[in-house]
Amino acid sequence: MVYTISTLCEGTGGKLKILVALFAAIVLCVGGPAIAAEEVAVGLFYGDSAPRAVVISGRGRLRGRTASGTFDGELRLRVRGRDVVAETGSGERRVGEWMELSPAEGESWLELGDYAYRGRLRIEVQRNGRLKVVNILGVEDYVKGVVPNEMFANAEAYKAQAVVARTLALYVRDHERRHRGDGFDLCTSGHCQVYRGVDSETPLSNQAVEETAGQILTYRGRPILAAYHANAGGATDEVDEVWPGSIRKDFPYLAAFESPFDRAANKLSGYQWCYRWKRTISLSGVAERLAARGQKVGKVRDLVVRKRSRSNRVKELEVIGSRGRARVVGTMAVSRVLGTPSSKLHLKKSGGRFIAEGWGYGDGVGMSQQGALGMAWEGYDYAQILGFYYRGVSLTEDYGRGRSRPLSVPTL
Ligand SMILES: [Zn+2]
Repeated sequence: MVYTISTLCEGTGGKLKILVALFAAIVLCVGGPAIAAEEVAVGLFYGDSAPRAVVISGRGRLRGRTASGTFDGELRLRVRGRDVVAETGSGERRVGEWMELSPAEGESWLELGDYAYRGRLRIEVQRNGRLKVVNILGVEDYVKGVVPNEMFANAEAYKAQAVVARTLALYVRDHERRHRGDGFDLCTSGHCQVYRGVDSETPLSNQAVEETAGQILTYRGRPILAAYHANAGGATDEVDEVWPGSIRKDFPYLAAFESPFDRAANKLSGYQWCYRWKRTISLSGVAERLAARGQKVGKVRDLVVRKRSRSNRVKELEVIGSRGRARVVGTMAVSRVLGTPSSKLHLKKSGGRFIAEGWGYGDGVGMSQQGALGMAWEGYDYAQILGFYYRGVSLTEDYGRGRSRPLSVPTL
């Protein structure tokens, strides 16, 4: 992608300054770059844990975003005051508040730390004096770096995950904007979706992305909140049971229903515990996690289930302590406080200890990833898998602008 100076610095309120080329290679400017329609910006490093220096190299040559020159070899970028300083073997240059690098050859990529990335990297100095590094790339390339990290190797399950990952990326980018304050669209962790760049890609997962290119799930013409989780433990849940305050009518496709294919975990080496598990609850851990939420109860004496969701998850828990009581509301909050894989559980008191026996891993909203794999094993295709886990949605081409077909629940 080639940018001209006038487009890449649009909207910077007159702050634009075009600086001299870096080693006659990289042209830089100050301001916030516009993101093209089908690209996403992924935060690789940001916040207080971000580094003060990074080394970026290319499998091939690096190029400044105005395409006015190239740069061979490694580039070490660090902070000096408010500016990024670029070092090479032959010297260093102060380059301004931010810079963007892309590979000189179209099919190449950039290396940073243990990973390699498609697209380009934007590096800027944060207020805390650390570097923010954002990977800006096409949605399809982003999805390629997500699918193999979020799904087991299977052609139809990979395709289902590709559509879901693409849909969620657009939903978060355009509607929820959960990382708006961070200056990018998505993070690389399970908070959004796990993204690990080029080296995690496989031929089978890339094929799934290419065969579903541009396809997303829509409801009333908009990308859906394509929530997913590891294992529903036999039943999915409604959105407002999990996140109290969500408005169910906005997410009717995230419904509560039986999810029998979750038992696929029993055939997955190392993942059997995701379907059926047993844990001893650490009462001191419960007290600590409550205190971190601002609920101090002293020594925990009793745990009482007050309310359950339609899928039998604990959605309200009362913790009785030596110095007070606390209520925990919402199925995800309950599992976080108890330290259990899910809140679809029963509690048993035995000799002063609490044992939790439960099902599933994660919040139970939307697609169960292991259930999707189970469906693929049973011969369902990706559209049937998606129609099963997201009720009443359509599969729409061209990122929601193209041909659309409603998906239905397959006959089980
Ligand atoms: Zn995130």
